[in-house]
Amino acid sequence: MPDAAAHLPFFYGSISRAEAEEHLKLAGMADGLFLLRQCLRSLGGYVLSLVYDLQFHHYPIERQLNGTYAIAGGKPHCGPAELCEFYSKDADGLPCALRKPCNRPSGMEPQPGVFDSLRETMVRDYVRQTWKLEGDALEQAIISQAPQVEKLIATTAHERMPWYHSSISREEAERKLYSGSQHDGKFLLRPRKEQGSYALSLIYGKTVYHYLINQDKSGKYCIPEGTKFDTLWQLVEYLKLKADGLIYCLKEICPNANASTAAVVAAPTLPVHPSMPRRNDTLNSDGYTPEPARLTKSQGEKSRVLPMDTSVYESPYSDPEELKEKKLFLKRENLIIDEVELGSGNFGCVRKGVYKMRKKQIDVAIKVLKSANEKAEKEEMMKEAQIMHQLDNPYIVRIIGVCKAEALMLVMEMAIAGPLNKFLSAKKEEVPVSNVVELLHQVSMGMKYLEEKNFVHRDLAARNVLLVNQHYAKISDFGLSKALAADDSYYTARSAGKWPLKWYAPECINYRKFSSRSDVWSYGVTMWEAFTYGQKPYKKMKGPEVIKFIEDGNRMDCPSECPPDMYALMRDCWIYKWEDRPGFSDVEQRIRTYYYSLASKAEGVEDAPQAAKATSA
Ligand code: ADP
Ligand code: MG
Repeated sequence: MPDAAAHLPFFYGSISRAEAEEHLKLAGMADGLFLLRQCLRSLGGYVLSLVYDLQFHHYPIERQLNGTYAIAGGKPHCGPAELCEFYSKDADGLPCALRKPCNRPSGMEPQPGVFDSLRETMVRDYVRQTWKLEGDALEQAIISQAPQVEKLIATTAHERMPWYHSSISREEAERKLYSGSQHDGKFLLRPRKEQGSYALSLIYGKTVYHYLINQDKSGKYCIPEGTKFDTLWQLVEYLKLKADGLIYCLKEICPNANASTAAVVAAPTLPVHPSMPRRNDTLNSDGYTPEPARLTKSQGEKSRVLPMDTSVYESPYSDPEELKEKKLFLKRENLIIDEVELGSGNFGCVRKGVYKMRKKQIDVAIKVLKSANEKAEKEEMMKEAQIMHQLDNPYIVRIIGVCKAEALMLVMEMAIAGPLNKFLSAKKEEVPVSNVVELLHQVSMGMKYLEEKNFVHRDLAARNVLLVNQHYAKISDFGLSKALAADDSYYTARSAGKWPLKWYAPECINYRKFSSRSDVWSYGVTMWEAFTYGQKPYKKMKGPEVIKFIEDGNRMDCPSECPPDMYALMRDCWIYKWEDRPGFSDVEQRIRTYYYSLASKAEGVEDAPQAAKATSA
């Protein structure tokens, strides 16, 4: 995930104060000359280095709990760029306004921090080991949840560092430091028996010193009286640059025995799940406390259920034992049908139920065909089942099977939180725009999968996106879907039917031609529905009026809550000629980039006024 300041030409990444001053000197020391660098102490923080009156001034920019950024005592801003822009207009407490950016010399990239370079490998290993995923399920989890997972990992990153010795005593630490070279500044870090506390062991003048590291109430780490850090690896990186009260600064790593492989294989010590006991309840037999990320929620972050934490991320048949029994037709005796109705339509209704598998019981949604229905309807439901049977993706509602009994029934995974449009209109206050973007990104991933498999959905709309929970969406309702022949890029309907015209691209209406590109058009309408929190598209217009509206070159306006980047994407989904419209692989990439940029900035940036309140409180 890119740093929120990565695009700024005056951002230097992870450089020290001395290096910053060197750059400013070279650039001439004019009043108001400034640069931005990564803060080595706080996760996601920065330092603004400014010249005034031939002096250097360094201002830490802290990332606040609500995700905004502020110089201590200053106003909060939604990102580092916005903050610098503010101070370029108004000194607001600084000795002078930011006048001249000290840009990086050409060809120089921002210096990556320790965590930056380990990030990708760590995310991959973490997802693989925590949720036991492989293959496509692993890739999809990484793409869709990278921002959330990165936050979790940042707090356990030290476990992958060669200087971290996960379970050694004070005596062993001394033995290790005294063996081999005894250079000043050779160090290691180890957990202590007392929960949540660590020791930094350092050699200087052939003597080993041990420093206690405690965690304060908000989860920050510090050597008593010393600087506070969000993470242990930041503490170490900082003390490498500056002794900060230690007898000497950290120079040479005393490596952990499995250091060479540690970065790749070291696993989070416990499987991580939000419902697990808090870390104070867990103590290993050898007396040291493992520290899985989710359990050390610092800063009052609410833990959130990720798609991979739910039972519907992978198919129930991903278990080989269950796969043995997989058949399209299910036995009636294994199915319990509840009275509860989840929804209804012309075909009949959708009921809640439970399906008994070999090893487990799963919640299901059962589409029950009205008994009086004719052959044609049964065939239609069977077609829908055949399509769904060929699909397996975390962002698509899976079919469990079909049951022929008192009625024909299509048994599906349950998406209990219901249709996206209804959910958003009911929970507008609780769902920030970043959350809407996250859900739409998941829909784009499901659609990209369909496009790759050469299926057209033909009924993509917010009503057919079902939610498992507030952060997990699945595409459903394959009643109109078609599998395209291998070398076809579109399907031509023989005649027009009962069609959702407001979601259809011009070529669907004019030529009955349906392709992934016409699904992209529908995706644009779905985006519009989502950013309006479930309003009906094209207001009260009737189908033929909408057609004329589009043919005349009009498009729906930008919803008031919709970010400009997302409206631009929507407009591209509504490019008249299908050949000129982006495909889902482009759409997914664009929304992903935007979604990551939001996550690296702040959670809920769009709630800036609210955020400001929280900071001053
Ligand atoms: P229709 O073809 O009538 O639109 P849908 O497949 O969209 O049928 O289902 C109708 C309604 O039933 C949905 O809007 C939703 O409320 C409910 N429903 C359908 N499938 C599920 C599911 N897998 N989990 C939960 N609810 C579902
Ligand atoms: Mg539907």
